[in-house]
Formats: sequence, structure tokens, C-alpha cells
Amino acid sequence: MRTPGAAPPAVTLGPRRIRALRPPRPALDPWRPQGFEVEEERTLDGRRVPALTVFLTGAECPFTCVFCDLWRFTLDGPTPPGALPAQLDRVLARVGPQGPGARIKLYNASNFFEPRAVPPADLTAIASRVRPFERVVVECHPRLVGEACLELAASLEGRLEVAMGLETVHPEAVARLGKAMTVADFDRSAARLRDAGVAIRVFVLVGAPYQPVAEAVEWAVSSAEHAVAAGVETVSLIPVRSGNGALDRLAAAGLWRAPGLAELEAAVDGAMARVGGRAVVAADLWDVERLAACPECAGARIERLRRLALDGGPVAAVVCGRCAGGDAP
Ligand code: SF4
Ligand SMILES: [Zn+2]
Repeated sequence: MRTPGAAPPAVTLGPRRIRALRPPRPALDPWRPQGFEVEEERTLDGRRVPALTVFLTGAECPFTCVFCDLWRFTLDGPTPPGALPAQLDRVLARVGPQGPGARIKLYNASNFFEPRAVPPADLTAIASRVRPFERVVVECHPRLVGEACLELAASLEGRLEVAMGLETVHPEAVARLGKAMTVADFDRSAARLRDAGVAIRVFVLVGAPYQPVAEAVEWAVSSAEHAVAAGVETVSLIPVRSGNGALDRLAAAGLWRAPGLAELEAAVDGAMARVGGRAVVAADLWDVERLAACPECAGARIERLRRLALDGGPVAAVVCGRCAGGDAP
């Protein structure tokens, strides 16, 4: 693991402050999903399989991470019983049957094994709807992975994969993010999942707050390496995005900066060099256009990130006469 450099000064925003800084949350219909997408995903054994992601609408996560903007896609109150199976039905009717090896990601912008977000009485109905999929991916905070998770794994036809946020292994940053989690918590949950035959995906931040701004790439790569050593099979590198209020406040104080496209690319290249072959590495490309500062090469570099995820690398670097790969405006 890297040795921590000097972290930004200790201006830690607490949960009340983070919530007070949020822009208003839109009122959502609990019976409608936020959307879905079908893409291809690379598997660890090198296949390309269809991957359906369903963005479910449900209760907000009980944690208050300083970097999080997922609360925008959640409800004020608990998820009504029956709402998630109904949302799934809508999406499955729209997309129709998927090809061989298809996987489904049930992303609820919260924690799948938290009863307020996913009513336990709905788990059987959800399991029956995802029966045709080879793999079922759900997201959950490491400290909320317990018996309910292992029971779901046992009830599925396909294999369960749990996506957990490690975010960063920078010791000071991870303690200040508001996630109420240590790296040891992540490792413990990873070991429990691995022992139960459940696959693990990790979310790693590129540009986590409270770590040295200039070390965004190095910490992302170290964090990916740590996660893979803990048994993770898929690494999703997530560029931290401004706009949730709290991050904008840290940015205004000079304590945080949104990563650019060049840093995201460097993190993917670095993680692939370090763990490629042992894990699938991919960048989260949602809204990635806003990271690009150079209009000349942005499209080619985003396409390169797509290819890297699907091919597992190597893909030649994009050469740009305008920004020389430095992502300068
Ligand atoms: S644990 Fe995940 S969903 Fe919950 S506040 Fe943190 S980042 Fe957001
Ligand atoms: Zn350029």
C-alpha cells in the first residue's frame, strides 16, 4: 500500500452539514424505476455478455458520504412493499429476453440488504424475476452484508455478485468520507462473501476527497490493488463528480478538485497494469463527457475507455495535438 502524503487540512463536513448543502431532491414515483440500460460486459474468463442494469427507485441510504449524489434518485420514506418487483416487471417487459450468459444489475442507489430499501418480503418475488440471468449483481455497504445476503445467494438460480464501495484505502480519507466504514470492514465482508461463493465487485473513487488532490490516480490504483487482493473480481473506477453541494463547498475552499478525463484514463491504465488478468477493470462512464476539457480528443478517449473495459487492454493511447494528453483546456 502507498504511504499517505499530506492530506488536505482537517475540514471534515459532518452528515448534517452535508445534507444542508444538498440541492433539492426531486419527488419520485416509487412504482417507476429510474431507468435501465443494456450493454456488454467483459467477464473474468474473457467472454462478452449482455448486462442489463436496472436503476431501481427506493429508500435513501442511511449513510451520508460526502461524495455521494445517489440520494437524488431515492425516496423520502421507505420503499413500499411490492414496488421493486413492479419496477422490475416494467423493465423486463420492455427489454425482453437477453442472450446467453446475460447478467442483471439491480442498482437501488442504496443498500440491497437494508430492509427499508428492499423490503425482505419482496426478495422471493425479485429472485423469481431474475431467474433467467447467469449472474445477479446488487450493491450494498460492506457493513450491511449479512445473513440476508447469503440467503439470497442460496435462493438464486444464477450466481450472486455484491458490489461494495471501498472508495479509497487512503487511511485518513476513508475515515472522513462519512461512510462509517474501515478498510478492515471491507476486507471482512469480502472474505465472508468469497467463502460463500458470492462474487465481488468494488467501487473505487478516482479523486476521493480528503486525500492529496495530486495523488488521485495513485490512490485509485492502490485501492483497486487492495480490493483485488481481498478477492474482488471486477473493479469499477468512479470519477468523483461535483454538484452535490458538499463537494462544491470543499472545491471552493481549495480542498478538492474533480478529476479530469486524463486522470480517469491513467487510473484505468494503472489498475489494469497492476491487477489485469486477475480482475476486470472498467471506468464508470456515466456522464463522463463532463470530465473532458479538450474537445479534440474527448470522444476518442472515451471510446478508448469503452474498448479497454471490453477488450481487457491493451488499447493504444490517444495522441492529441491540442492537449498532448494532459486534458488542458
Ligand atoms: S454508502 Fe453509498 S449510497 Fe450510501 S451515502 Fe455512501 S456512497 Fe451514498
Ligand atoms: Zn486533446
